[in-house]
Amino acid sequence: MKHQMEPERGLQILFTLEDEMVVETVVIPFSQGRTTVCVSSQVGCAMNCQFCYTGRMGLRRHLSTAEIVEQAVFARRLFTSEFGSITNVVFMGMGEPFHNIENVIKAASIMVDEKGLQFSPRKVTVSTSGLVPQLKRFLRESNCALAVSLNATTDEVRNWIMPINRKYNLGLLLETLREELRFKHRYKVLFEYVMLAGINDSFEDARRLIEIVRGIPCKINLISFNPHSGSLFKPTPEEKMIEFRNILAEAGLVVFLRLSRGDDKMAACGQLGEPGDIQAPMLRVPEQFRMAV
Ligand code: SF4
Repeated sequence: MKHQMEPERGLQILFTLEDEMVVETVVIPFSQGRTTVCVSSQVGCAMNCQFCYTGRMGLRRHLSTAEIVEQAVFARRLFTSEFGSITNVVFMGMGEPFHNIENVIKAASIMVDEKGLQFSPRKVTVSTSGLVPQLKRFLRESNCALAVSLNATTDEVRNWIMPINRKYNLGLLLETLREELRFKHRYKVLFEYVMLAGINDSFEDARRLIEIVRGIPCKINLISFNPHSGSLFKPTPEEKMIEFRNILAEAGLVVFLRLSRGDDKMAACGQLGEPGDIQAPMLRVPEQFRMAV
């Protein structure tokens, strides 16, 4: 793998693979001593989430275990001296990690192995758009943390913005989590919720969200949408995000709010990449959301 820093784009690292394909890794320095590396698991992605830049590329190929681990190794080498050390790894770069489950499980286990990178399993988070059988397998085989990109409170909206929902709907996804987490000790799933103006950000959505995650040990991360070229969607205004957060917090949920900042590159999974000429198709906008996009 070759690498290239792009200083003008912040802490983004481009890796050129042996077959000349390129993947992106992002390092996000946080305050309070936490610095996160966001690794890619595929070149492109097959999931076609409608708000995601990576999704426009379609899937080019899976990354090998070595190609995934190398991103964290390289970032750690680079950031150890100058900026403090890498403390967390998130699989939220290009790709749906569970679509490449064999290599992702192996890579995550190397990252937490005593003879590997020695991260605590709580500091390595794999994010999925909701591939239910693979999610089950991950929870049974790995102790690493799990994030689920939820992004909607009804099948109607999720079927549109995250087409994987047509195969594994919200009910099945959430019931599987409810069931599987019974066997995990002190384990909470992180729900990522990218807020899209007029699509998934009503107060009715907030109240529905409280209901649908009931009984699942979880935390919720509300993320400001980072519009990219050709995007249909608009970000929810900050004041509305705060009100949305307050409704969830008043119901007793643990909720974080990530307002728009320089670290938007890491928004749930994806949002990286260069779609090129051949792009995945945009899906038909449901009638009732035509005004919002
Ligand atoms: S949000 Fe994640 S799963 Fe969806 S298209 Fe983007 S990279 Fe793939």
